[in-house]
Amino acid sequence: MGSKVRLYVDHPLSEGQSVPLDRGQANYLFAVMRLGQGDVLSLINGRDGEWDAEVAQGSKRGGTLVCQAQTAPMRLPPDLWLMFAPIKKARTDFIVEKAVEMGAARIIPVQTDYTNERARRDKLQAHAIEAAEQSGGTYVPDVAEVTPLAQALEDLGERHLMFCDEALEHGALPDLPGAWAILIGPEGGFSQAERDRLRAFAHAVSLGPRILRADTAAVAAMTLWQMRLGDWA
Ligand code: SAH
Repeated sequence: MGSKVRLYVDHPLSEGQSVPLDRGQANYLFAVMRLGQGDVLSLINGRDGEWDAEVAQGSKRGGTLVCQAQTAPMRLPPDLWLMFAPIKKARTDFIVEKAVEMGAARIIPVQTDYTNERARRDKLQAHAIEAAEQSGGTYVPDVAEVTPLAQALEDLGERHLMFCDEALEHGALPDLPGAWAILIGPEGGFSQAERDRLRAFAHAVSLGPRILRADTAAVAAMTLWQMRLGDWA
């Protein structure tokens, strides 16, 4: 077999720890990936780093793994939240997946004046888990419930906000250390009232002279932030 199977479990990981599998996990490991007793896979739980674990027993309905040794330490992303207005499902899923790959610490879908789409927290959280499994990460960002923009702005506290404003001619990301959030608007953009409110306290940033779709803008904004203030340096 090529690269080791990587699985997220919501269970403590430590040497000798046995980890029970639910039906979905057992189906994935033993029916889809065709693992069997004695095979070794990688586990993450978002807290304890990455661990090798051996299949102690498994059927299509359940099973038990036993943790062997830690293979990678826990690595936290920088303190960056991604806030975005949900768009069509496939594009919203894409934003969540890319946010995990790019190193967001928390993902917050926000309801803005021109947001028409909904999003299901549990489905988006499952996407975040899958993205962490696939990207070699040890951290899984929490996906919040869809939050009204006004509430999401309250929740920022002292956190700096990078407000991606497509109506700006110019606007560079300032070099301020500390905790940050990025805000990306919906396909309809921000209302004038939202823009006024945001410009009063947020760091309005331009992503260039072209209008990007929200999913492109999310990746571009995280790239810019990571290069300037994050863990790419
Ligand atoms: N319907 C709007 C575009 C919305 S694009 C219009 O035509 O004006 C979706 C979101 O992506 C925007 O709200 C903004 O947050 C971000 N975005 C897109 N292009 C951008 C740019 N050039 N600069 C900054 N933000 C941008």
